[in-house]
Amino acid sequence: MTTTATILDGKAVSLQVLDRCADRVKQIVDQTGQTPCLATVLVGHDPASVTYVRMKQRRCEAVGMKSIKIEMGDQTTTHELVAKITQISNDPTINGILLQHPVPKQIDERAAFEAILPDKDVDGVTIHSFGTTSFGLPGFGSCTPAGIMRLMDAYNTPIAGRHAVVIGRSPILGKPMAMMLLASHATVTICHSKTQNLPDIVKQGDIVVAAVGRPEFVKGDWIKPGAVVIDAGYNVGNVGDVDFDAAAERASMITPVPGGVGPMTIATLIDQTSLAAAKQFGLTEKE
Ligand code: NAP
Repeated sequence: MTTTATILDGKAVSLQVLDRCADRVKQIVDQTGQTPCLATVLVGHDPASVTYVRMKQRRCEAVGMKSIKIEMGDQTTTHELVAKITQISNDPTINGILLQHPVPKQIDERAAFEAILPDKDVDGVTIHSFGTTSFGLPGFGSCTPAGIMRLMDAYNTPIAGRHAVVIGRSPILGKPMAMMLLASHATVTICHSKTQNLPDIVKQGDIVVAAVGRPEFVKGDWIKPGAVVIDAGYNVGNVGDVDFDAAAERASMITPVPGGVGPMTIATLIDQTSLAAAKQFGLTEKE
């Protein structure tokens, strides 16, 4: 395989984000004597979720913040989870809340997300956060699409006036991704499982974001030569939603899996937690 595509190195850019975040955390601690704290909530024992929560806690502690872990059993009800999240939302010692998802099937995930106070919604999963994202108001963006925007920004990826094709319309990924690209003046098409002639639509994309959850679903010959390809997918076996080798032959920029979108998601969560703490402690937010 020969490619001249620029690899969008999410690992490297995430480390820069985390370095700046560590500086902010130090300032917060110096100025207030308080240490920002992220609460992670894990329901059940899904092995991938256990790993993700552990990674998020480690990153949190690496930048000098505290993390507390709340673990609930597989049989937890919606009522119990909402009550727990409401309790930590009202706890002044906690600045940000991450509810690891997916949650077990018996739980109304939306009800659980909505129990997170907007000021502590550092993962950007609430309807409020989607609304502020969509309206261009201050607030926390959903971490995966917000991380993708930061990654593209780090590589000066042109967005304004480009046709962006987003494949997937989930509330935490496809939809907020589309809103963020729109806010950056792309012309946006959102595709989903009922979309007809998907390859033809993807072929029109100057920017293609794959957020489907199916391994190597997007084929190389769907990619317009010179397009920017963002693979948000993360499937069993460390495989993304894009056939990387074939797509890289046509793309101008492309994210690898792993090492692309994933590290940016975590770095954005950590960064937004420090910003939430700064706001709650009455400090001026600085980027
Ligand atoms: P999701 O909730 O399952 O949504 C998948 C979307 O793909 C849905 O909108 C669905 O359409 C669409 N879709 C399914 N089959 C399709 C098809 N044949 N053609 C076109 N669209 C199709 O998944 P998600 O939570 O958005 O996650 C998507 C991927 O991103 C997964 O691989 C997940 O692991 C990954 N992810 C990665 C990170 C990270 O940090 N790297 C974070 C979150 C998610 P309908 O709406 O019509 O059903």
